[in-house]
Amino acid sequence: AKTRPWNFSAGPSVLPVPVLEQAAAEMLDWHGCGMSVMEMSHRGKQFVQICDEAEADLRTLLGVTDDYAVMFMQGGATAENAIVPLNLIGRRGAPVADYVLTGHWSRRSHKEANRYGDAQVAAASDAATVLDGREQAPWTWVPPVSDWHVRPDASYLHLCSNETIGGVEFMDWPEPAALGAPEVPLVVDASSHFLSRPMDVSRVGMMYAGAQKNAGPAGVTVVIIRRDLLGHALPICPTAFDYANVAAESSRYNTPPTYAIYVAGLVYKWLLGQGGLAAIETANRAKADLLYGFLDGSSFYRNPIHAPVRSRMNVPFVLADAAQDAAFLAGAEAAGLTQLKGHKSVGGMRASIYNALPLAGVEALVQYLKEFERTHG
Ligand code: PMP
Repeated sequence: AKTRPWNFSAGPSVLPVPVLEQAAAEMLDWHGCGMSVMEMSHRGKQFVQICDEAEADLRTLLGVTDDYAVMFMQGGATAENAIVPLNLIGRRGAPVADYVLTGHWSRRSHKEANRYGDAQVAAASDAATVLDGREQAPWTWVPPVSDWHVRPDASYLHLCSNETIGGVEFMDWPEPAALGAPEVPLVVDASSHFLSRPMDVSRVGMMYAGAQKNAGPAGVTVVIIRRDLLGHALPICPTAFDYANVAAESSRYNTPPTYAIYVAGLVYKWLLGQGGLAAIETANRAKADLLYGFLDGSSFYRNPIHAPVRSRMNVPFVLADAAQDAAFLAGAEAAGLTQLKGHKSVGGMRASIYNALPLAGVEALVQYLKEFERTHG
């Protein structure tokens, strides 16, 4: 068979080979039951076991306590941009919520929320600024928490903790006390760095993540929500998207994306086998340090993000001369490095280096970057 390329796709993206192998081995006959997981009733004992085990493993990985519901839903993070306000924006009466804008995905979330209520901007990195003596372009930095303006009567405060396109990551979520609005729970879109490191779930009211980056195939969205936030959906909220219904039925209110949940569950077991999130964080840090270290040492390539908030998952970079982009990408493809083209809204390149992309893949990329600079610099 053709060897697998090093896959730098932002998502859907590379999965651990042992997970793919296990899914292949179990394709026709899951654990001796004679059926594929795809063929099982979502209410039969086999799938119930698969789904409950996936939830339990996810809780173990993240240390989620029982005062939070963990749900597997559909619609991706884009649907959550609507499902979140449908469930939460009216929970304190007037439909009011605040949003922190740090790039493409948080702006999308904010725009969608405005269809359901009064969604205001608590803070935004929409202008150039100077940080640590350097000029930072718009959307390449994170406004300090002390500058956020959170309305005390907001139903929640939303942020995207890893901007997949911009490459801006919150290394930590703010402590609720730091927001100056104790009644306002944090709601986090963690799609593109979910399970890349330990995360303090107790700091958020809710978090959600599409699986198709670090956590499985497309089709399943993980939602983790504090139980006291359930049961406040707007009357227009579709019943299948009412978190209270989905939580009460352990993700099986209606037919869930069964096969995607199964593969996500295999990814969770793979992560536990790697030593859990602290171990995967160590590996991810080494990969990111290698790549950023190389980019910073070169005058041919440049990453524009404020250093303390550079994403460990999505590394955008530009060449000194954009006219060389096409040659760069063609050469990369020939060298077995795929999906390095940046998002069309920012141009340049982007290397997504998720959990399942090993250090050897980043080493191969750095080798190629050096070689291209030598021949084109
Ligand atoms: N939020 C973030 C941070 C994302 O990276 C993405 C997808 N790249 C989305 C939301 C949208 O996800 P989906 O296409 O699954 O709806």
